[in-house]
Amino acid sequence: YTQAKALVFSKFGEPSDVLSLHRHSISPSLPDGAVIVRALAAPVNPSDVNTIQGTYGVKPTFSPLLGTPEPAAIPGNEGCFEVVSVGPGLSGKLARGDWVIPATTGFGTLRTHALVEHADKALLRIKAPDGLTPAQVATVSVNPCSAYRMLRDYVDLIALSIASFQNASPPPEGGAWFIQNGANSGVGRAAIQLGRLWGLRSINVVRERPTPAETDALRAELVSLGAAVVVTEAEFLDRSFSAKLKEWTRGGRDPLMLGLNCVGGKSASAVVRALSPKGTMVTYGGMSRQSFPFPTGPQIFKRLRFEGFWLSEWSKENPEEKRKTIDEILELIKAGKFKEAPVEEVRWDWDTEEKVLKDAVQGTLEGFRSGKGLFVF
Ligand code: NDP
Repeated sequence: YTQAKALVFSKFGEPSDVLSLHRHSISPSLPDGAVIVRALAAPVNPSDVNTIQGTYGVKPTFSPLLGTPEPAAIPGNEGCFEVVSVGPGLSGKLARGDWVIPATTGFGTLRTHALVEHADKALLRIKAPDGLTPAQVATVSVNPCSAYRMLRDYVDLIALSIASFQNASPPPEGGAWFIQNGANSGVGRAAIQLGRLWGLRSINVVRERPTPAETDALRAELVSLGAAVVVTEAEFLDRSFSAKLKEWTRGGRDPLMLGLNCVGGKSASAVVRALSPKGTMVTYGGMSRQSFPFPTGPQIFKRLRFEGFWLSEWSKENPEEKRKTIDEILELIKAGKFKEAPVEEVRWDWDTEEKVLKDAVQGTLEGFRSGKGLFVF
């Protein structure tokens, strides 16, 4: 029998109140098509906390299968696992030692081991993991994938760049612009880097740090990833921003056609104001927990478009594209062209106390962190 531990919850609430560490064992006699995997690394994303709080767009299924006192769910949507034992019917598909990630969200990754049925559908095998770390593989499928799709699937910024190069005299210094708030988030950092690789220019809004030196360090860090411009929320909300924007976009001749909204509230309203006519705002997060008005005037007179992005649904609709996107990003990582977002590693050993694990999950929505929590096993 494989001894396993998992974080579980049986009712919604704050992670520190409702999570517990559950010990169970996994039988070695595997059904057809099943594997046992052991965890190598798993991040805690904001959506994991929202799921535990019961505020996320999809509710988990509480199941009695783990033998918990009450039916329970395991949080966590992303992780890098190693196959440790393979049931019948999977030869040529999965082998001991393979690195795998969940194919869809809702896997429940915050656990040391898992029995995975229908493993060839439920798991994506990482084709050539050499040169990759568990942390890189564990964090590739949500944030970088979301940034990739949002930059490519709403506005054809690459075509716009080419057009602006052709028509402009003198030619602009870079490609088409996009703007994003929450720019230092995992998604934001991925968007900066992918945008840069595709020849795009980004305007990046971040919250001020407690000291000017820390704010400058964050600016420098995002510029080193490929940010064209980094502004603080205060600078972004200030009246002087529109003059700066005019300058960067040559009075609108290099229009700002895409805004990515991670934050909501006032920051989102400022993104709406910054967009050029016929621009698109894609909302994918609400970190400030505040909504924003869809202002009537700009909607009509600037003919703006408002879209929502949800990776889970996109992945269900486009499983092949998801696989390709992940493969492409992993290749970029291997080639040294894409850097994973910083993490705060939390070691999860057999003896790690429940409180340490629960605190790591609870800390996720706190803000001003040096990186998101990543369990390493
Ligand atoms: P990270 O954990 O990497 O970063 C969190 C970000 O949120 C940081 O930039 C942080 O800024 C900012 N933040 C935290 N609290 C606040 C606040 N009160 N007001 C404004 N900003 C705040 O996040 P991820 O990249 O993993 O996720 C970012 C958002 O994107 C989340 O809302 C997440 O749910 C969403 N998301 C949505 C997806 C979808 O399919 N729709 C897919 C992936 C992510 P600071 O450093 O200043 O605290």
